[in-house]
Amino acid sequence: MKKIVIIGGGFAGALAAKKLENENFNVVLIDTKDYFEFTPGILRTIVKPNHIKRIQVLHKDYLNKAKVIIGEVIDISDKNILVKVNGKKKRISFNYLVISSGSDYDSPIKEKNLVISSRTDILRKSYKKVCRAKNILIIGGGIVGTELAAEIATHYKNKNITIVHSKPYLMERQNDKSRKYAENFLKKIGVKMVFNENAVKKDGRDYVTDKGTRIKTDLALFCTGITPNFEFMKRNFSHHLNEKNQVKVNSFLQLENHRNIFAAGDITAIDEEKLAQNAEKQGRVAARNIINLENGRNLKEYKSRPRVMVISLGKWDGIITYKNIALTGIIPGILKTLIELKTMFRYKF
Ligand SMILES: Cc1cc2nc3c(=O)[nH]c(=O)nc-3n(C[C@H](O)[C@H](O)[C@H](O)COP(=O)(O)OP(=O)(O)OC[C@H]3O[C@@H](n4cnc5c(N)ncnc54)[C@H](O)[C@@H]3O)c2cc1C
Repeated sequence: MKKIVIIGGGFAGALAAKKLENENFNVVLIDTKDYFEFTPGILRTIVKPNHIKRIQVLHKDYLNKAKVIIGEVIDISDKNILVKVNGKKKRISFNYLVISSGSDYDSPIKEKNLVISSRTDILRKSYKKVCRAKNILIIGGGIVGTELAAEIATHYKNKNITIVHSKPYLMERQNDKSRKYAENFLKKIGVKMVFNENAVKKDGRDYVTDKGTRIKTDLALFCTGITPNFEFMKRNFSHHLNEKNQVKVNSFLQLENHRNIFAAGDITAIDEEKLAQNAEKQGRVAARNIINLENGRNLKEYKSRPRVMVISLGKWDGIITYKNIALTGIIPGILKTLIELKTMFRYKF
């Protein structure tokens, strides 16, 4: 039986593992964490810690035949990978490799190298810090910073929340209507927004921007974007990385000159919004192409295109965006919850 090694059990890797274990393959999923987590639901756990249970599932509970290894892949070559498990290094050979190591984000939003119980502790501690803090600074006003400000401000009425954003408006990659709706929504619930400035310096607990604005801060939360998890590529595969350390792939998601090595999800150099839905689509294409290679069939192309996105503004409001269209209000808020339920249903039942 051919062996498929999958690095990372996020949206791309978990889906590929689930799909491939039902074919005639020996599948090995390697992840630094022992669980899959629905990242879009994390922001809610910061105000509602009991939400954590709903958005996590152990890899061993949704995979029936695949082998799960909890460890960190530290090196890869043409034929095998080197993984560190409990301090010991181990080589694992493969016939096919799927690189789906995703991206990192500031704590507590994403965390690597954790078992599920420690992750729960960290999220509960973050919740307590948010409860105690009167003045909360959110650094970064992209989608994550905007959603986080809305989660906290709709949940607590007595906090001073400020977003500092280096751009002239929130969520600069979204259309005008979405941006304005989010900005007005946050303004109405008392969130202050400082644009075209960077929070650069800490002075005591407070932060001072590059233009000298002082922001009273008890708690600062960083929402400044993702960095790819690429370190294991450095020694033998650095020529497959672009200038942002993302993995370059062809339209079938293969690495150049490696028919049997695929990449999927946030780690790829595909120029598009880094989204769970794109990661899942790529995980599916990579899995399908491994099956097709084995059966001598044509490979499937991954087609990058603008996708409908759902941005939540607290539990009961949000925005559905697509190109220049924006649908706002309660329906997007509910839709986001339904997407979470649907995804977790797939893994839990
Ligand atoms: C707060 C937040 C909200 C978001 N909201 C949305 C949303 O509403 N809709 C949407 O579509 N997208 C959303 N996204 C984006 C989405 O979460 C990502 O696009 C998605 O998680 C990418 O999936 P992935 O499988 O590529 O990687 P990841 O989810 O990052 O998973 C990668 C996995 O690989 C593991 N790993 C990393 N390095 C190694 C290694 N060396 N060895 C072994 N394992 C390793 C990691 O521990 C992790 O488990 C959001 C992101 C954030 C941070």
